[in-house]
Amino acid sequence: MADPTRRDELAERLADIRSRIAAAAQAGGVEEVTLVVVTKTWPASDVRLLHELGVTDVGENRHQEAATKVGELAGLDLRWHFVGQVQSNKAAAIAGYTDVVHSVDSVRVVRRLDSGAHRRERVVDCFVQLDLDPGAEGHGHRGGVAPADVEEVAAAVDAAPSLRLIGVMGVAPLEEEPARAFERLAAVRAQVCDHYPTATAMSAGMTGDFEAAIAAGATHVRVGSAILGSRPVLR
Ligand SMILES: *Cc1c(COP(=O)(O)O)cnc(C)c1O
Repeated sequence: MADPTRRDELAERLADIRSRIAAAAQAGGVEEVTLVVVTKTWPASDVRLLHELGVTDVGENRHQEAATKVGELAGLDLRWHFVGQVQSNKAAAIAGYTDVVHSVDSVRVVRRLDSGAHRRERVVDCFVQLDLDPGAEGHGHRGGVAPADVEEVAAAVDAAPSLRLIGVMGVAPLEEEPARAFERLAAVRAQVCDHYPTATAMSAGMTGDFEAAIAAGATHVRVGSAILGSRPVLR
């Protein structure tokens, strides 16, 4: 049984985030921003409440948890986004239930996502994740490919019959002003768009920095704790 106070709490926070997104979008002259509510660590009952409150897009970052929730909520009209690092041995399985993968970061992962999507006769939308950590040269702790390798991974997604390249994604490093990191992401998005004109999307911004991301041109923001509450500390 759904807890009425939890519903009210989620409704209130969701309304607040939606109005902040709308204000940031208007200020930045952005037409439409997709809110992906990141539900990792929270139960399927919360996802059900969010769906009742009009949420259409939800995000998860771990394969096992995501697969379980998708199974529990089969039949609800939701778009599932995978935002966490994709282990290549899980990629085919992830492509079997995910509509959008935000964290594509190697050609190997591209091949496995494509074969998993093909097997299930589905098409999966993909963002190439850029490593925004300037000190980390392609293996930053927050994942993603080095700027020099974006083209190779984007080309692999574009060539994959069961994947659709829709844009670039990034996570701002902790030690930098997010606006500066999102400017670098926007510049890479522009380069990718030159080659692949339909890859116009930019997934950027979380609870602490989604307004800065929208100001830089984000089309997809991934917000978790501002709506669901703070998560228990993960290992
Ligand atoms: C957890 C997570 C989010 C949401 O983070 P919050 O700070 O709770 O909004 C967004 N993006 C990724 C990649 C995440 O892992």
